[in-house]
Amino acid sequence: MKKIAILGSTGSIGTQTLEVVRGNADLQVVALAAGSSVEKMEAQIREFHPEIAGMWGEKEARDLQERVADLDVKIASGMEGLLEMATWPESQVLVTAIVGMIGIRPTIAAIQAGKDIALANKETLVTAGHIIIPLAKKYGVSILPVDSEHSAIFQSLNGEPADKIEKILLTASGGPFRGWTREALAHVQVEDALRHPNWSMGRKITIDSSTLVNKGLEVMEARWLFGVELDRIQVLVHPQSILHSAVQFVDGAIMAQMGVPDMKLPIQYALFYPDRRSMAGGRVDFFTLGQMTFEKPDPDTFDGLRLAYEAARAGGSMPTVYNAANERAVGLFLDRKIAYLQISELIGEAMGHHRVVREPGVEEILAAEQETYEYIAGRISRK
Ligand code: NDP
Ligand code: MG
Repeated sequence: MKKIAILGSTGSIGTQTLEVVRGNADLQVVALAAGSSVEKMEAQIREFHPEIAGMWGEKEARDLQERVADLDVKIASGMEGLLEMATWPESQVLVTAIVGMIGIRPTIAAIQAGKDIALANKETLVTAGHIIIPLAKKYGVSILPVDSEHSAIFQSLNGEPADKIEKILLTASGGPFRGWTREALAHVQVEDALRHPNWSMGRKITIDSSTLVNKGLEVMEARWLFGVELDRIQVLVHPQSILHSAVQFVDGAIMAQMGVPDMKLPIQYALFYPDRRSMAGGRVDFFTLGQMTFEKPDPDTFDGLRLAYEAARAGGSMPTVYNAANERAVGLFLDRKIAYLQISELIGEAMGHHRVVREPGVEEILAAEQETYEYIAGRISRK
């Protein structure tokens, strides 16, 4: 029996993780955490019987407590609750399916408690990879990528060391606006941006995919996960989303992982690594597919990608500013307070305004996040 804890169980990755649990009788859920979706959490508790469950807000946690008063489950709330669930003694693997930098502290605590991490929450690695990767080494725990591209790279690497990598080929679908001009992007509405051609995901990451900020975050994620320099990570636009990413080795051999776009595969792979389990679902039919195509990304139109490389090169606290500014800007766009192109404009402005802190600790990372939030709030109120 493998026992797992899921932070963000009611979201896109969280619910797909629970589908994987349904398909594998030897997986057991011991802890579940969500933000405010009390009803969904109640249903999950009744189906999966965790030992502990939590809501971010105290009010929601009280509501949940009343709803499940007939069950033997501990209810927690806030950061304290997240930390308790991340380090729950019974759990072996923590699935980080929460959105944003709120995942940093629970991830660190879980590593220190000796838990392997099935990592979906890329924002944590982008902003605190310099802390998390050495810590995982120190505690001898595995960071198993859930992000489909990184899982593809991990599967392609198959244990070969970083010094055998010549290049990482990181694929991107290009999103719904592939080939568009900036003039056309200026008129994009929320509904247009939420329509991803190949993947069904949470709202924030769907917008990030359309701006290529998601790919920018993934470049930084790959750098930490696989220990390669930025200039060895090449982004390829591959609109069919069949080749999920690849590794080019020092002898020129390229190993890639392909499959239909379905997050359950990387989730299951992370949960059972190094075992590969059977899984029902779609299969690629190359005859129907006909062709796979590849294009260069357009970093002038999609400047979120260009800014990601800038943030990564600046290093230190700059990736935090990139990430936090994007998070706020995407929130403002979803609330229809700013136009689509203002997302990357605000990221660039926030980065321009920031003075980099080298090797930031968790407190300094969170301070840079706060500073960025305040900067963006100030910019918007002046508009
Ligand atoms: P969703 O928005 O669908 O889900 C987010 C989850 O986090 C929800 O369960 C939400 O709860 C919970 N949550 C939010 N805030 C808090 C909080 N303060 N405390 C506890 N729980 C909280 O996001 P996704 O599943 O799309 O993404 C999750 C992570 O995985 C992100 O980092 C994303 O970049 C990454 N990822 C996602 C992919 C995908 O296909 N979706 C692919 C690759 C990576 P509630 O429902 O109550 O709000
Ligand atoms: Mg991805």
